[in-house]
Amino acid sequence: MQTWIVAQATYTLIRSRRRTMALHIRGDGTLEVRAPLKLSTDVIDAFVASKQSWVAKHLARMQKNKPVPTSYTEGEQFLFLGKSYPLQFCDEQKAPVVLGETLCLASRLQGRAEKVLTGWYRQQAMQTLSERVAFYSEVMKSRPKQIKLSNARQRWGSCSVRGRVNFAWRLVMAPPEIIDYVVVHELAHLLRHDHSSAFWQIVQTVLPDYKTRRNWLKEKGRLLTM
Ligand SMILES: [Zn+2]
Repeated sequence: MQTWIVAQATYTLIRSRRRTMALHIRGDGTLEVRAPLKLSTDVIDAFVASKQSWVAKHLARMQKNKPVPTSYTEGEQFLFLGKSYPLQFCDEQKAPVVLGETLCLASRLQGRAEKVLTGWYRQQAMQTLSERVAFYSEVMKSRPKQIKLSNARQRWGSCSVRGRVNFAWRLVMAPPEIIDYVVVHELAHLLRHDHSSAFWQIVQTVLPDYKTRRNWLKEKGRLLTM
């Protein structure tokens, strides 16, 4: 029964001089099929139908990992070091932002929530990343000349040949072990400016489970957003 539904599912068909078929899920969740020029639509439909469970699995994962736009309303969840905190507007609070059971923003700043919270996150990111860089610099004997924060949404870290490392401030939303992975990755780049096996060997020596951490970023990184 379900096979029938998928067989009827719409997809964009792109025919070209190719010998095999390929199915691709686009960023917006629609299907795209690439097929040889003269292949019959029955065969193509059957091919799409045979990929039913693969499509369902990937669509579910895309849905789960879809970032929701931030509304800065009370009760909205904010991530910090891998934990989720509801936003609360607090009266009679001197500091702009206080993290406790909730993420408390001084009520008087409610209209500027985005700006104030971003500033707070950046400040926390710099503090956390500086500490982790200091720690792993000792371990790896690899010390950057400067640490900077970027506004990138997916590029979590980068480094320059001059020894400067950049980290996305949103990284501070991730669990500590994920932050450590990005730090170790960039410090390893100061020793090796490529992704050669020698480079991964350095990362693995420091973090034997680095692959698990890297996969977490690939799958859940897009949730680290506001
Ligand atoms: Zn890299």
